[in-house]
Amino acid sequence: MAYSITSLCVNCFACMDVCPSRAIAEAKPHFVVDARTCTHCEGDYADAQCASICPVEGAILDPDGLAANPPGSLTGIPPERLLALAACSPA
Ligand code: SF4
Ligand code: SF4
Repeated sequence: MAYSITSLCVNCFACMDVCPSRAIAEAKPHFVVDARTCTHCEGDYADAQCASICPVEGAILDPDGLAANPPGSLTGIPPERLLALAACSPA
């Protein structure tokens, strides 16, 4: 399995420029990772560069299918607090 991009991606281009294997392509409705080309950044960086720079929680999944930047990891807002706020929002 390779890293992958989800529908939460906002097509900001940030990950394309940092991928050492040029595995990320612009696409609609969201950018995509070529699983055959993604190297997990092994040999180039200690961390997946796409996940390191992506500003959107949940937009990139690791090879296990888990969010590389899970809810709260970038904003510092606890997920349970987000749920409580969502419950208070008007529909
Ligand atoms: S994990 Fe590394 S090689 Fe794979 S898509 Fe992300 S930046 Fe590119
Ligand atoms: S950095 Fe994140 S939000 Fe931006 S294009 Fe890549 S996956 Fe999408």
